[in-house]
Amino acid sequence: MASTPKILLIYTGGTIGMIREMKTGALKAFDFDNLLIHIPELSQLNCSLESVSFETPIDSSNMNTHYWVQLLEIVEVDYHKYDGFVILHGSDTMSYTASALSFMIENLSKPIIFTGSQLPIGDIRTDAKENLITSIEIAASQIKGKPILSEVCLYFEYKLYRANRTTKVSSEQFEAYDSPNYPCLAESGVHLKFNETHQKPPSRFKKVKFHKKIETQVVILKLFPGITESVIKSILEIEELKGVVLETFGSGNAPTEKWFIQLLKKTLNKGIKIVNVTQCLSGNVVLGLYETSIQLQNIGLISGKDITTESALAKTMYLLGKKVPNAQFKQIFETPLRGEMLK
Ligand code: ASP
Repeated sequence: MASTPKILLIYTGGTIGMIREMKTGALKAFDFDNLLIHIPELSQLNCSLESVSFETPIDSSNMNTHYWVQLLEIVEVDYHKYDGFVILHGSDTMSYTASALSFMIENLSKPIIFTGSQLPIGDIRTDAKENLITSIEIAASQIKGKPILSEVCLYFEYKLYRANRTTKVSSEQFEAYDSPNYPCLAESGVHLKFNETHQKPPSRFKKVKFHKKIETQVVILKLFPGITESVIKSILEIEELKGVVLETFGSGNAPTEKWFIQLLKKTLNKGIKIVNVTQCLSGNVVLGLYETSIQLQNIGLISGKDITTESALAKTMYLLGKKVPNAQFKQIFETPLRGEMLK
């Protein structure tokens, strides 16, 4: 008989476990025990649940790469002990962390589900209970004793997404996330419906690897009509800069002005990587489709295709941290590593 799935719940902070400070009325990270007492239903789930919390839970606006590694190490230490992981995280930067973890773990063969909420667990209208309970159920879902999912996912408001395809789209709606370029992996209604055709196949026979080196000397540069030469120059000339995620217009278009192209060229010649991603919520970069992207293609900008900005940043930091050789960087970036972009 198959044994009961073992799930580790990791609390990093975020609204889900916050309380309202009497004096200021502001929400503040609180301790994990507070969270658990509000969901007695957890004991009824068909899995054995253990939990661990960041020593000091944080608002996810304070998230950084050290915390990413800390989170990775929590998963690494107990990777073989559990069948799945649920990570509670503030919703503001959850797509960044979840995208980063998707790259930092290679050959994943079990689910890691990120979730959070828009209202604290103690609020009467909270969305936290459903998000948490269903995330645990999903993490514990198995067929013939093997987890159904083997990737980093994000669950919010009845939908399970591939984490590195998500972006936060609302600070107000319970439906705070979207995955505009990739279908959801499961939907929760009366039944939990998994979308098998879009799930990543498990890497059961490959050894899991945890990558902890992340390059932090990177920047996201969002173009806008009228952006000046001095602004772009001062960003691209940052000392130690190693990578740029350039948010361009539409299908990867940018100004054709000489000074702009020259600045990009100079940056590339220094070995700094530039990834072209679109500012649009959905769709993808097609270099060469318009005259306004031909030069970007000719000078060797990397196409981010349909990747999200969050995922492009995480992938850049990961590949730079891995010290991928210069000559292969573009080709490796343009290849989907964890289902984060189209082929
Ligand atoms: N500011 C909170 C955070 O990201 C918002 C949330 O959890 O939804 O930690």
